[in-house]
Amino acid sequence: MPAPLITPESLHQRAGRICVAVSGPEMFSLAAATLPDCRFIEFRLDSVPDPASQLPHLRQFLAEHPEATAVATCRRQPYGGGFHGTAQQEIEILAEAASAGCQLVDIETETAEELGTAALEQLRANGAAVILSWHDFQGTPALEPELDRMTPFAPDFRKIVPTATTLTEALQLIDMLKTHGGNGRLIAMSMGFRGTLTRVLGPRFGSLFTFASPEGNAGTAPGQVSLSTLQHLYRAEAITAETSIYAVAGLPITGSLSPRMHNTAFRAAKLDAVYLPLETDALAELLAVVARLNVRGLSITMPLKETILPHLAVSDAAVQQMQTCNTLVKTAEGFAGYNTDVPGIVGPLQRALPLANTKILILGAGGAARAAVFGLRDAGAHIYLLNRTYARAEALAAEAGVHAIRREDLSAHTFDAIINSTPYGMRNQTMEAPIAAEEMRAKVFFDLVYNPVETPLLQLARQNGLHVIPGVEMFVEQGVRQFIHWTGQSAPREAMQQSVLEALA
Ligand code: NAP
Repeated sequence: MPAPLITPESLHQRAGRICVAVSGPEMFSLAAATLPDCRFIEFRLDSVPDPASQLPHLRQFLAEHPEATAVATCRRQPYGGGFHGTAQQEIEILAEAASAGCQLVDIETETAEELGTAALEQLRANGAAVILSWHDFQGTPALEPELDRMTPFAPDFRKIVPTATTLTEALQLIDMLKTHGGNGRLIAMSMGFRGTLTRVLGPRFGSLFTFASPEGNAGTAPGQVSLSTLQHLYRAEAITAETSIYAVAGLPITGSLSPRMHNTAFRAAKLDAVYLPLETDALAELLAVVARLNVRGLSITMPLKETILPHLAVSDAAVQQMQTCNTLVKTAEGFAGYNTDVPGIVGPLQRALPLANTKILILGAGGAARAAVFGLRDAGAHIYLLNRTYARAEALAAEAGVHAIRREDLSAHTFDAIINSTPYGMRNQTMEAPIAAEEMRAKVFFDLVYNPVETPLLQLARQNGLHVIPGVEMFVEQGVRQFIHWTGQSAPREAMQQSVLEALA
């Protein structure tokens, strides 16, 4: 008499809500390394040239690790996998995997359509519950018809995995989960970076579980997040309907360190909150996501910092003055907008020297320079702007009532502080230095560039005896101010700084 098939309840009890997908010739060592942190493993048998050859290893692994809960998958090539065999061969391999101890097997809808319910019965007879799955690697079509396609086969679980090419498509998946996930027998997430929110929030909206990639290893699907990121950074298993959602929005944001910094902050402060990346350049789409997910606060980056302005119910003086906003807080009256780039620059500099009546040279005249100019001017400093395009420096100087200066006139000046707000020193940036060693006549040098942490200008300034402030201080300071706006409590600055430095190391 075979053991009863796994149920949603017994699955959660045995294995939790995160499944790590392992693949390739190293799949068993990856699985062994994963087990101390996660006991739920998907074996992608189709990721090796001869899946059948892995079955004895699978049997041995599961005998040695009775604590593991295992899914076996042998996806055929036309449906996104690597298996070149027929549907019948797929079923035979999975039936073997089931008898080797896998509690679950995953077959694509097309396999069931080809072979009928007998294929599912064969797998169940070998002790495994059947996940019927459907993938779309291009986009998100209507999802209900894909669910309906599965109904005649009465699978134990259904899995729907489209690709989110937009946040709207990711929301479409969340809506489908809300409607059909109630019985705990649906697994759904969107592939792609824009699908991240579905991978993190999926279980909250009714997905039986979500997938992660093993540590230090490529995932088995685009946009898959590593186990430690999902477990410890997003704390995906602890997310409930009560969890407050925050996010960074803009395009591009794939390299943003904000999710790392703010999720670390929420965890350090023991707050039930999560911070997600929302990649979009479309404000209307962002506002729809924010409303539907009840996002409480946002970091706003390019190109939305200006387009958000008409949607602010209230804003701070810096936003009004500079007409650019990088922080949103949802209030009963609507969005409150703040600019924390200004205190992000003023704060660290103020800790190094008093600002009233100091003379400060700013290299560059772009967005970061703008925050520096207005913030430092209002703190009482005398500002000089030096920029490649003199006319741009002149225009900003005229707007703010400060000075523009030409490079050839630099030798006539000494400064209290110099701030680099050009991209010079950024990784992969090859521009000429905006200042030479002999022109660094100042006490303090603040390089806003923060990747790498140690920039050529910081090194040069240090060699010249200047006190230096690395750009990480601005990044952390603006984040600290965001945290305070969102939570009303003091921020765990050290933990935030540490997380950023670790990411940049
Ligand atoms: P931006 O608006 O594009 O402005 C860039 C400035 O650098 C412009 O004044 C530009 O001069 C100048 N520049 C660009 N390429 C140059 C080149 N090849 N030679 C000489 N000058 C050049 O950028 P942004 O938003 O102000 O950001 C500037 C830098 O600040 C970024 O690269 C980033 O590393 C840093 N930043 C750091 C933080 C932080 O949290 N630490 C935050 C924001 C920015 P033209 O006017 O002549 O084009």
